[in-house]
Amino acid sequence: MNSGREFGHSAPWVEPRCRNCGNAVPKKLRTYWFGCSDVTDGFSISERMQKPADKQDAQRFVDGTVVAVRYWGELPDRYVRSASVWDGKSYSDEFFCCNACTTEFAYSCAKSGAATQAYTGTMARRYAEEAEKNDPQK
Ligand SMILES: [Zn+2]
Repeated sequence: MNSGREFGHSAPWVEPRCRNCGNAVPKKLRTYWFGCSDVTDGFSISERMQKPADKQDAQRFVDGTVVAVRYWGELPDRYVRSASVWDGKSYSDEFFCCNACTTEFAYSCAKSGAATQAYTGTMARRYAEEAEKNDPQK
């Protein structure tokens, strides 16, 4: 049985929710550009010269689901310039909807006493050093 902790594979039937506010974690979208060269991954460039008429038409040219499109030009020459596409499984983050929630959650954890091993290790060493200094036997 899945623990529900594995990123992106936890409960595929339920969209992930923010551990802080409970809102939906945004889908991770990829932008496809049309009618021009498309920098696909920051390095390679693919020619995507098609000029889809609308969202439905753009769907034919992408892997995944078109969730939004932006147009270029005026009718009747207007075409889809870019499409935001979801691969059906990727989200922007494993646990949180935004950086503000990440920070808020971290503060609430710290206030409730939670700390990392790095912190507890450092503090244990400091207490030990102080105890040594104040030891009247020395
Ligand atoms: Zn949130």
